[in-house]
Amino acid sequence: MSLLTTTGLTAHYGDFQALFGVDIALNEGETIAIIGANGAGKTTLMRSISGVLQNGPEMITLSGQPIGGLSADQILPLGLAMVPEGRRLFPSLSVEENLLIGTYGRKVDGYWSLEAIYDLFPILAERRNNPGTALSGGQQQMVAIGRALMSNPKVLLCDEISLGLAPVVIKDIYAAVPKIQASGASLIVVEQDIGQAMKVADRVYCMMEGRVTLEGTPDSFSRNDIHAAYFGVS
Ligand code: ATP
Repeated sequence: MSLLTTTGLTAHYGDFQALFGVDIALNEGETIAIIGANGAGKTTLMRSISGVLQNGPEMITLSGQPIGGLSADQILPLGLAMVPEGRRLFPSLSVEENLLIGTYGRKVDGYWSLEAIYDLFPILAERRNNPGTALSGGQQQMVAIGRALMSNPKVLLCDEISLGLAPVVIKDIYAAVPKIQASGASLIVVEQDIGQAMKVADRVYCMMEGRVTLEGTPDSFSRNDIHAAYFGVS
């Protein structure tokens, strides 16, 4: 049984339909990447899974339980946390206070604690009393990831965590992924950078115009396959 599934998932913004029957499955211990051009529907998929946008209950399951009709507040304690696009830290709160906000909705004791987050991202221990505004973009992204991990999620959704960051910083952030997997979490990573997605993911889904156009292991695609799935031309 997959840990998380979407089946025939649709999503609308008013009259505008953004997703058309999206099927994805995340297995226990896996990292999957969702790639696709601007406007393909990646963020809408993340918002649907996390309960920010609500869908028919039958469309999404977590550990076999339908979660599609639930709100984000109801889904978080079931073990699904999101690192939103744009980080969304509380700027006047310190690093540590921002991390502690992540314990809201935490139901079970698990691997993650402040110490474990500081072990994952040592720079945050040095900056623990600094306000969110005093951090670099990469450090803010680390706090956003740490805050989501503090809920001890089974599934961590990461929406464009490398956006706007320098390559060396992106490397530091992605170096955390195996450690997060080792803690028992499975990951869905939305990534515009195809090379990065191929490096980190066990399987990749490509989306275009609200549909999945390609799915498989990174080594199963040619450049042409990806080009066609990404842009609709080969
Ligand atoms: P990006 O990489 O730019 O974030 P994306 O693949 O995440 O792109 P979405 O943000 O999910 O794509 O957008 C999918 C479609 O839904 C786009 O056509 C977008 O214009 C539309 N859309 C997104 N958010 C809204 C909204 N709040 N209201 C109306 N339409 C929206």
